[in-house]
Amino acid sequence: MKTAVEIASGVAGKKFRAADVLEERLKLINEQDAEIGAFLEVFAETARVQAAAVDAKIAAGGKPGRLAGVPVAIKDNMLYAGHRMTCASKILEGYIAPYTATAVENLIREDAVIIGRTNMDEFAMGSSTENSAFRKTRNPVNTSCVPGGSSGGSAAAVAAGFCPIALGSDTGGSIRQPAAFCGVYGLKPTYGAVSRYGLAAFASSLDQIGPFAADAADLELAFSALSSRDPKDSTSVAFPPAKPWDGIGGVRIGLPKEFFSGEGMDRETLALTRAAAVKLEKLGARLTEVTLPNAKYAVPAYYIAASSEASSNLGRFDGIRYGFSAAGANLKEGYQKTRGLGFGPEVKRRIMLGTYSLSAGYYDAYYLKAQKIRTLIKRDFEAAFEKADFIISPTTPSPAFKFGEKVSDPIAMYLSDIFTIPCNLAGLCGVSAPAGFTAGGLPVGVQFLGRPFSEPSLFGLLKVLENV
Ligand code: GLN
Repeated sequence: MKTAVEIASGVAGKKFRAADVLEERLKLINEQDAEIGAFLEVFAETARVQAAAVDAKIAAGGKPGRLAGVPVAIKDNMLYAGHRMTCASKILEGYIAPYTATAVENLIREDAVIIGRTNMDEFAMGSSTENSAFRKTRNPVNTSCVPGGSSGGSAAAVAAGFCPIALGSDTGGSIRQPAAFCGVYGLKPTYGAVSRYGLAAFASSLDQIGPFAADAADLELAFSALSSRDPKDSTSVAFPPAKPWDGIGGVRIGLPKEFFSGEGMDRETLALTRAAAVKLEKLGARLTEVTLPNAKYAVPAYYIAASSEASSNLGRFDGIRYGFSAAGANLKEGYQKTRGLGFGPEVKRRIMLGTYSLSAGYYDAYYLKAQKIRTLIKRDFEAAFEKADFIISPTTPSPAFKFGEKVSDPIAMYLSDIFTIPCNLAGLCGVSAPAGFTAGGLPVGVQFLGRPFSEPSLFGLLKVLENV
């Protein structure tokens, strides 16, 4: 399968056509997605129109975009004008996007072809894609396992070769964790680097859109197209000039001692993470121990903070303005029926948790305390980044699990995010890169965290690791 870089240069150089690239991927989806379940909908017709337009523009001598003819899938929580968007929830069934998310628009401006919308945990709440109201997504590497979540459909789409790039959103690990489970790359950009305009909000202070790709160069290409300062998202910023990557020599890689304790962790995952660190050391990096003493509070702080924001963000789904609507004898009953029938159990759990922690009597004990922990975690990272340029850790405590293994135990599911959540709380950038396979053949991901806006050197690091 061609990479995004190969497609863009081949289409730009008229070696092949965007239309043919698209047909090749549509055929594969047709043959295999009934089993994998990566997509909720394939936009075959509009994608064909887009691909033909890219070919026509290039044939007429127009300047090709950086993603000329590259098929890209988008998670089903991003608006694409005229297309359905459901957040994999019954409450948004039948909803049609009235405008296009800036991130999606940035890709289209670079001549990408939007191939479809991918399955996810309802409203991006979950770590296995089992919370989708519509279908099951299987891990293409081992179809008896989950693909991870919440962006499981996007990770599976790239792993299955349905498209070289897919977009996900990461609030507490939803790009990096499924990337690790499916054996692909996934980037959670620095908070503010990619516009959230047109992304259905889960927890606005944590949400970031980012790419999945099968190799580091494609990940970089996707990110360079996505990142922009957008006046429509007041938290987005212009990417500051970055220190150019000048090689691995002398780069300090921090190993947080709390993340390498091995407690509650799969042994092979830990060994492969250490092996990645040792490879980098052999190439000239310096390994150093760092400490993140407050990281142990990250999971509880996240589930309070994220659920609080979700309880407020999801208040807009009232059965009047969007999608599904159930009639009641009066307005209140209409709200109750719409929300009662429209939301699944995990979303209801989060709304209740968040509403409780924001309520007058409990605000100080829960929401405020979670915010204070967030500050402490941010300071831990600031101290760690005095000693290290990047932090390495496993992406997940264990490789992909089987369907049903954690659905009845929400706490076990929440703990899958133990290594990914601190990055969101501190607004850093983080990536999961493939680190090898367990003896049982399941992919393992290694996570690298960097200071805000250090993506350019993060890509440098990934390319070094990829080539050993
Ligand atoms: N698994 C985490 C959760 O359920 C993270 C989700 C995400 O990043 N969107 O909240």
